[in-house]
Amino acid sequence: MAQRVAVNEGSKRTSRVRVAVRLRPYMDKQDDKGEGPCVRGLGPQKLEIINWRNATETLQYQFDVFHGEETTQQEVFLTSVKPTLPHILNGQNASVFAYGPTGAGKTHTMLGSQEQPGVIPRAVREVFNLVGAQEKGQDGWEYSVGMSYLEIYNEKVLDLLSPGSQDLPIREDKDRNILIPGLTHTSLSSFADFDTHFIPASLNRTTASTKLNQRSSRSHAILLIKVVKSQRGPPHRQQTGKLYLVDLAGSEDNRRTENRGIRLKESGAINLSLFTLSKVVDALNAGAGGRVPYRDSKLTRLLQDSLGGSAHSVMITNIAPEYRYYFDTFTALNFAAKSKQIVNRPFVRETLLAPTIAPGKRAREEQEAGGSSEPQTKKSKEVKKAEQSPSQSIHPHGSPDSSVLERLLALEKMMMGSAERERLSLLQTVAQSRKEIQMLKEKQKELEDKAKMFNKQSEATESESKDALLFKTDLPPLHRKQSTAAKPRKQQAVVTPLQVSQVQPLQQCALVCKPSQLLDKKKKRVQTEVGEGKENGGVDPGVINWESHLDSALLEQSRKKILQTLNSGSLKELKSLQLIGDKKAKLIMGWREFNGHFTQLEDLRKIEGITAKRFSSFIKANILSSMGK
Ligand code: ADP
Ligand code: MG
Repeated sequence: MAQRVAVNEGSKRTSRVRVAVRLRPYMDKQDDKGEGPCVRGLGPQKLEIINWRNATETLQYQFDVFHGEETTQQEVFLTSVKPTLPHILNGQNASVFAYGPTGAGKTHTMLGSQEQPGVIPRAVREVFNLVGAQEKGQDGWEYSVGMSYLEIYNEKVLDLLSPGSQDLPIREDKDRNILIPGLTHTSLSSFADFDTHFIPASLNRTTASTKLNQRSSRSHAILLIKVVKSQRGPPHRQQTGKLYLVDLAGSEDNRRTENRGIRLKESGAINLSLFTLSKVVDALNAGAGGRVPYRDSKLTRLLQDSLGGSAHSVMITNIAPEYRYYFDTFTALNFAAKSKQIVNRPFVRETLLAPTIAPGKRAREEQEAGGSSEPQTKKSKEVKKAEQSPSQSIHPHGSPDSSVLERLLALEKMMMGSAERERLSLLQTVAQSRKEIQMLKEKQKELEDKAKMFNKQSEATESESKDALLFKTDLPPLHRKQSTAAKPRKQQAVVTPLQVSQVQPLQQCALVCKPSQLLDKKKKRVQTEVGEGKENGGVDPGVINWESHLDSALLEQSRKKILQTLNSGSLKELKSLQLIGDKKAKLIMGWREFNGHFTQLEDLRKIEGITAKRFSSFIKANILSSMGK
């Protein structure tokens, strides 16, 4: 078996993933409002993006390399890729992957066009050049070059050189080399030979779907170039070097686009792979020797022997300058960077003033001149204008929609130092508590109004048959709390309507069972009130009782609905289930990636940490909640 060769241990940086950022030129044809770019370069390693929290600040990031808008394909190749290639001929592995939101230039960087070939054709040509030079030099070794080309789509490994093939397994041999049994491997004799195999296979990929862009932006395309080096004479040693060239799926948050059905499943799977990739890159760059979670997704499992360790890895993060990419650019930069700096200076939009000049050029000119030559008053006007623009769905100056804001906060929290993190967490808790209080106040008022109305109704109908009020005559009356009506304390007020009618209680349950996930204690307390009494350890006997009160068809329907959410819900949708927080939602997503579908709700019990008691509470809370909606 051909062996991999470890990199000289003298170099401590071998397991790091080098990070380059490439900003593509501004090209938003829809930008008739003249919004200009939201990000720009500051030098060979630095860039800045406007701070969404505060328009008078920018966020500055530093990377191993920054490729500005005018960087050519050749320059990207020479700086970020070419230096890694000689290692492939020495039995070492390497990986180059393009990361970033759809439309930011990943495919342009990796594949390019006939006129502007990208990393893939340049790297393959260079590998043949290097092999040719070695063979000419007669170094006593023989080289053979081959390729495989595959796609990871929906966590399935598909062979692009053999269209129609099934999901392929990923294995590891005793030397810790990653293998894919059954994957086509084609020998290549020259660069022209590569072209004849690669081009039709690329077409296979893009024409496999009617909505080709949708699919290609949701799958990871992985080209493997393998160089096997064999000693001509005894002891006939053999070494294998692998080069992975990866055009990753778009890193944009698909939960924001209203994905449904299959696409919802795709985004879940992609998020899992990219999420795991981010954890792997983080773990490698932290360099603490801790666990690297390669096994948590197909993508990272496949790249395990070529990402980190003794391999040479480069990530080219592609970003777009237009405002409509702001959120995705911000998240991509945070994925790529370990640290950032907040700088107190406004991001002035030069393009508003002179849209004919390339924004990158202006930024550079400004930088060279030591700052903008525009008068300060003009500057602040521009910033003001930016603050007022209502056109962005993710507007860093105005108020972004609450889910985006929440995630920006969460992301920032994740990225910050501990002092900042505490301050932020405090602010967030205060904001959340305010929201909670407001919500509870509104509900209290609403329920008090309803209680008043029902009291009036019940007085009026007291003499009539009680059955007339009942939703189902065969249902026993629900729990009554006689004393609560008289004392409208907060929590009691929430429960009040339960005593009045059989039609209302489920709706109130839904309200009561939906407090913020942050306020777990409160949630538990309120739910206990709604339930049949205190939980008393083991399986909650209340489960049996409360279910028997409900119509079996409705019960079945709501169980189905919950099962559907478990099987195809996004992280956010899973978290909207009662008693499912971030951790459990991720465990559910992970379970379904590896085990397929939940066939019944009881399968949830197979997930770590979901005990019989928790499962009962989960079922109860969610059924009551879904029936009440
Ligand atoms: P992605 O693969 O990330 O979705 P693409 O590579 O398809 O993005 O790029 C989107 C568009 O932008 C394409 O039309 C592409 O040609 C163009 N583009 C991307 N990067 C550059 C660049 N550096 N220079 C010129 N055009 C670019
Ligand atoms: Mg692409």
